[in-house]
This record gives sequence, structure tokens and C-alpha cells, in this order.
Amino acid sequence: MSNILSLRHALEQLSEDGLLRQRRILDSACGPRAIVDGREWLSFCSNDYLGLAAHPALAAAIAEGAARWGAGSGASHLICGHLRPHEDAEIALAHFSGFERALLFSTGYLANLAVIPALVGRGDAVFADRLNHASLIDAARLSGAEHRRYAHSDMGALAALLAASTAKRKLISSDAVFSMDGDLAPLPELLELAERFDAWLLVDDAHGFGVLGREGRGSWAHFDLPAAERVIYMGTLGKAAGVGGAFVAASATVAEYLLQRGRSYVFSTAISPALAVAVSKSLELIAAMEREREHLRALAQRLQAGWNDSRQAAAGRWRLIESPTAIQPLVVGGNEETVALMRDLSEQGIWAPAIRPPTVPKGAARLRISLSAAHSCEDVDTLLAALDHAARKGGS
Ligand SMILES: *Cc1c(COP(=O)(O)O)cnc(C)c1O
Repeated sequence: MSNILSLRHALEQLSEDGLLRQRRILDSACGPRAIVDGREWLSFCSNDYLGLAAHPALAAAIAEGAARWGAGSGASHLICGHLRPHEDAEIALAHFSGFERALLFSTGYLANLAVIPALVGRGDAVFADRLNHASLIDAARLSGAEHRRYAHSDMGALAALLAASTAKRKLISSDAVFSMDGDLAPLPELLELAERFDAWLLVDDAHGFGVLGREGRGSWAHFDLPAAERVIYMGTLGKAAGVGGAFVAASATVAEYLLQRGRSYVFSTAISPALAVAVSKSLELIAAMEREREHLRALAQRLQAGWNDSRQAAAGRWRLIESPTAIQPLVVGGNEETVALMRDLSEQGIWAPAIRPPTVPKGAARLRISLSAAHSCEDVDTLLAALDHAARKGGS
């Protein structure tokens, strides 16, 4: 059958290009130490920034939630799947993020797919940062609106696109913390442009929620910005929050509209009520984790200081992007050199993912080092020593 053959060819091509990806099976819970192939690795891979994914209080919340409410919700929110724990979690999420109302989604990907096509369509335009996450790109495409992309965080370019646009309705979308660079979007300027050009602003805070802002309330809180009616704030619950799922927070009107018209809210089964119980618990924990956020910042500083102090040989070729968040990318450049570095580190028992084009621009392949409050200072020192070792080997 020729359809199958063409898939085989495509897979062979990926393999030849060194782009065939593989899953590793972890025989351990999410954490800085991962058991893979019977061996323990020091891992810098997960988005579990606060170390909550395997927190006993969340595991207990799920167990208690399942005992009281069962495993499944049984239906979408609008049919009969909106149980008390979902309602409680949505109210807590709205309160925590500072918006009038919040809706729960099963993933951040699906949350973005609900928002953009509900608010804009044919004849409208989406203005998107070039480094936005794939889910925002897919959501813009699905909407049928014109998709205009501006150079990363270039507010002049965005203003020019907005000024030139004749679209009926406009929507600006941006990651709040960029997933491959770890830098913050200029949210105050984005809000200002949205106001000036009467556009919606969708902020995807997958990597800022729980980590930034007072009590971990996220990037919007970090900049102390108001809950304006044109703002839609999306936070994910499977990264720092340690559970899974996502939420959209907005004005009561926008939330009600998404509840009626957001297709992945309407036509998808509500998350397990046990998870909803854990989400509410996670918010309590996040608010009280100032020490962990402090430790996370200290780890990032330790990595940067250690890199700048003693790794000049490697620093000439590789560049640690100065990021204020848990995402600390080491830009290596070429694909092969990056994969070689990843392999070298893995020989030293360290697991950090190599990220290559098209996920990042050509020539900017990198190791995406992500830190967690569950890492110790010694873990960072171990990583620095391993990088140093790899640099010397590669350089000699
Ligand atoms: C991870 C991520 C998402 C998707 O969230 P999931 O809950 O994993 O589907 C969306 N946007 C950004 C920026 C992300 O990093």
C-alpha cells in the first residue's frame, strides 16, 4: 500500500537526518534523579520547576479526591462533567491569577486552541511573536485569521504591523516566558499596544505560572499589570503546578463566551475530579513556596556565575543565555556539536535535552537546561563540572 510506503520513507529520511526522536522510559517519579535503563541520571529536563510533580501532598490530594469523587468526570463541563472540585478549582484559579473568572482545560495546547478561534476568524488578524509555542501557532491557523508574525519581542515591528492592519478584529498572542530562551516578553508594552490598537491580548504563561510574581501568581503579577478586559491569561498546570491540565483566566464576559463557544471546552471531557482537587491543593502549596522560588533563583545565579567565572574556554564557543527564569539554555550552535555535547554529558550521568531546528532557529541548537527547586546547589556544581569536562574534551 503506497500510503504506508510513503510513511516508511518519511521515517527513514528522519532517521538519516538524525532527526528521529525516541522516548526514554523512566522507572522513577519525576524529579532531579531519573532511573532510565537501570541507571540513575541527574536530570535537567523537566518543567517541574517547584518540585511539585511528585510532592506527597499532591499525591494524597489525588488519592483523596478519587476516593470521594471517583476517577472520571464522565462528561464535558456543559453536559454533566462539572463537579464541585472543578468549580472550586476554577474559582481558586481566578482568584489566584487576579482575573474575574477562570475555566479549566485538559491541556494548555487545548486551552490555546479554544481561545484564538473563539475570538477571531476570517477577516481578522493574529499578531504573534516569532518564538511563540506551537500551540499558539496551531490555534492561529485553526482560526482562519491572517497570521502575522513579528521578530522576537520587537515592539516596533509589532506596532508597525498593527498600524498597517485593516483587519476587523485583532489579537496579539505571546508566550510570557519563552520556552526555549527563558526570557520574559515585554508584557507592559504588549498591553499598551493592545490598548492603542484595540486588540485582544492572549498571554501564555506556561513557564511563568507558579515561578514568577508574588506568591508565584505568574508573569502578569510579576509586572503588576491590571486584569484588563482585553487580556486573556492562560496558565498550565502540568509544569510548575505539578499536576496537569491548564486554565484560561479572563473577564467574566470573555470567560462566559469561551464557556459557550470555546470548542475544546465544549466538546471535551472535563479533567478527572481527582486532578481538580489536586489543582486546588497545588495553588495552596505554590502560594507558600517563596523559599523554593528563592532557591530556584539562587540556582540560576549559581549556574550563571559558575559559567562566567571558570568556563571561559567553553564560553567562547557556547553561550549561556542570561535568563531570569528556570529555563537556562546553553546555545551551542551546530546540530552535531549539540548532540555530541548531550552525549558527552550523558556519559557523565547527566541528562539535558538537545533542542534543534526547527524548534529553534538554524545555527542556534542548544541544550535546554531546566532547573527545579528540587535541585541542590551541588547538582548545579556537578553540571558545571561536567560541562567543563566536555568543553575541554571538545576543544582539545
Ligand atoms: C507546554 C506549553 C504549552 C502546552 O501546555 P500543555 O499543558 O503541556 O499542553 C503551551 N504553551 C507553552 C508556552 C508551553 O510551554
